[in-house]
Amino acid sequence: MLAFVDSHTHLADPAFDADRDDVIARARDAGALALVCIGESLAAAERARAIAVRHPGFVSFTAGVHPHDADTFDAERDLAAIRAEVAAGAVAVGECGLDYHYDHSPRDRQIAAFEAQLDLAYDLERPVVVHTREAADDTLSLVYEAGKRGVVGVLHCYTGSHDLARAALDVGWYVSFSGIVTFKRWTDDELLRLVPDDRLLAESDAPYLAPTPHRGKRNEPAWVPRTVERLAQARAATAEHVAALVIDNARRCFGLAIAGAPR
Ligand SMILES: [Zn+2]
Ligand SMILES: [Zn+2]
Repeated sequence: MLAFVDSHTHLADPAFDADRDDVIARARDAGALALVCIGESLAAAERARAIAVRHPGFVSFTAGVHPHDADTFDAERDLAAIRAEVAAGAVAVGECGLDYHYDHSPRDRQIAAFEAQLDLAYDLERPVVVHTREAADDTLSLVYEAGKRGVVGVLHCYTGSHDLARAALDVGWYVSFSGIVTFKRWTDDELLRLVPDDRLLAESDAPYLAPTPHRGKRNEPAWVPRTVERLAQARAATAEHVAALVIDNARRCFGLAIAGAPR
């Protein structure tokens, strides 16, 4: 069995309302040492915090405002709320970022909300979880500028350009891959090799993006090993080696206390 950390999962999603504790138990049984439960809205962060409280030392949580909801982002109200979640134990700010594929919020509002959360992460000295889709240029300049100031973060569920990945890596960031890399249509193994050993993360992004052979089903953290194995294949490394990397990197990035993890 492969030990691993799921660095990005939406366990607060209603998709898990019927069997959340079973999903978490299956993750543990499958070798998970920690799960980072993403609060992609303040309501989700509140639910994520409650889940973390039920599973101390195993589930941690984050708090932020997703680019889809940037239109309703209110800097004063929302930054104070994220700040309060961090004071209550949130390990990161986010997910936040830019999504020009769906454009659910106007781009100027997305940029404003993203910048404000990068500034907050700087203030709080916490990592940022970043969602970026078809917004490479704007993401690159904002991430690079924040990184230069010492903000560390993760490009999550990354499938974007090599240039953006390199710029983020240059300023000390991490790159996290999801089940997408197990799909037949995935062709960019070069991207999977471009990330150095000490910056590589793996995630479920559950309930979305179940890896092969579970594709199309509701995803869950227990299936992250499929993604770890695929990363190992691309990097010509053993799955055990890559699993140890993602554990160590998740611990360093999010400041997780993981009992019994290899150093
Ligand atoms: Zn995302
Ligand atoms: Zn997400």
